[in-house]
Amino acid sequence: MKYNFYRPYKVKFYITIGGKVGQRKDGYHYGVDYAGIKDKTIYSITNGKVIRTGYQAKGAGNFVVINSFDYPNIEIKFFHLSKIYVSVTQHIDPNTAIGVEGSTGRSSGSHLHLEIWDKYKIVNPEKNVNWIKRPYISKIKDENNFIKYSAMATLGFLGYLLFIKKK
Ligand SMILES: [Zn+2]
Repeated sequence: MKYNFYRPYKVKFYITIGGKVGQRKDGYHYGVDYAGIKDKTIYSITNGKVIRTGYQAKGAGNFVVINSFDYPNIEIKFFHLSKIYVSVTQHIDPNTAIGVEGSTGRSSGSHLHLEIWDKYKIVNPEKNVNWIKRPYISKIKDENNFIKYSAMATLGFLGYLLFIKKK
């Protein structure tokens, strides 16, 4: 069975870094690790409710756990956040920013550790999830490109002026 969830980032560019579901030297890794490239805001991946938030120095760091309304047995865990924007019992939807990716707890660099549980069974985000693309992803990308190209055009024009002046 495949679960339908929204991507945890709104930007197009986020990557899966090293951590996948499976055995590692230091124990079993129950989630997948992601890193946002430009915007590190983390959004809810489903309609649901916040059931736990907290801080765990030696593990999860700042964490948020949500329960899905679409799949009542599903619990989703977001670890290592630098900021938490939601509180327990709050209802959320895929447009709710739940926090910001970070490196709190046992973490070696900024990333989001995402774990999905169906009761006591782990759900592999890379195999058992159909990730829904967000409609505004390309818009954000275009805005970034617009700023980038405007800056490049301005620099190019200034360079041209300097070039003319030297001549
Ligand atoms: Zn991890």
